[in-house]
Amino acid sequence: MQFTDLKTQYAVLKTAIDARIQRVLDHGQYIMGPEVAEMEAALVAYTGAPHCVAVASGTEALLIALMAIGLKPGDEVITTPFTFAATAEVIVLLGGVPVYADIEPDSCNIDASLIEAKVTPRTRAIMPVSLYGQVADMDAINAVALRHGLVVIEDAAQSFGAGYRGQGVARKSCNVSTIACTSFFPSKPLGCYGDGGALFTSDPAIAQAAREIRVHGQSGRYHHTRVGVGGRMDTLQCAVVLAKLERFDWEIERRLALGDRYGRLIRDSGAPVQLLAVRPDRDCVWAQYTVMVDDRPSVQAALQAAGIPTAVHYPKPLHQQPAYAAYCCPDCMPHSVRAGQRVLSLPMSADLTHAQQDRVVAALAKALA
Ligand SMILES: *Cc1c(COP(=O)(O)O)cnc(C)c1O
Repeated sequence: MQFTDLKTQYAVLKTAIDARIQRVLDHGQYIMGPEVAEMEAALVAYTGAPHCVAVASGTEALLIALMAIGLKPGDEVITTPFTFAATAEVIVLLGGVPVYADIEPDSCNIDASLIEAKVTPRTRAIMPVSLYGQVADMDAINAVALRHGLVVIEDAAQSFGAGYRGQGVARKSCNVSTIACTSFFPSKPLGCYGDGGALFTSDPAIAQAAREIRVHGQSGRYHHTRVGVGGRMDTLQCAVVLAKLERFDWEIERRLALGDRYGRLIRDSGAPVQLLAVRPDRDCVWAQYTVMVDDRPSVQAALQAAGIPTAVHYPKPLHQQPAYAAYCCPDCMPHSVRAGQRVLSLPMSADLTHAQQDRVVAALAKALA
């Protein structure tokens, strides 16, 4: 069994993917070819976000977002410590200061009720992460941002395709804040065959800034109006995303159903496993199917012996990482620390079979018996 099954997906989509790649090889526009704008338009249609800018990776999208809002050294960005390092990395790279707010212990997303107390005159932005594929509490976060004139940047690297209703109409991840950044790393819900990412925004000025920053700050050929980066997404990778969009709706439905089924099977097994809480006004697309257990090392070892791969997203929150420890006391953020000790990700992909899922849950229950 594979942790993320990309081979079955390729086998199913082979004709479409091969044809898309061949078309790029035939026209030869490897940099900023027609597939780039075609993918951006397809993702605007899919998410409902007014603007999409394809970039080199999810990390690059986050970096370009902060550059586009003009983050200055010393500016503060409120974010969660329980995330992949890239979230805080881009803040620090620009001389900014990550200010951590702890997570909700049951959903592992940033606790929106803790954010307002962290706002200072130096705060510029709030960067929630829609962890594991569940959109953070965006209505509450946007309300804090509105009160204090802050920008909200959703780190949607794991949540592309997730729905969010909140107090208003149904929206999709990447269209629930002024800016959102996603990743097409192969194992993410919408993946390419290398690195890729996208920035979404409702603000045309931020979209224009991001387009310029993506190509070394050029507003015209060899006319550099600002400092930028080499942040383009390859035409070939956009072609892969376009082919994968053909069955993406099916994949999302399948991920939601498999997530529900995992929960049902685990509950029915009676095993002492804490399921991730998914709020009734949103869904989780399960970039990873993550649960919480005590004595994780022995559970992982037992699953490995049964031929079932697992992973830990993430063992240590950022305020306990050497590179980011200076931004917080190591003893704070108790919920993030505890989650880091207990989270365990099980195999997940749209092509996971019910038989495989049964095997995973049986082995999990046995390991905890
Ligand atoms: C994967 C991921 C990123 C980075 O995306 P890349 O495309 O690998 O650069 C950022 N934030 C989170 C939460 C992620 O899971």
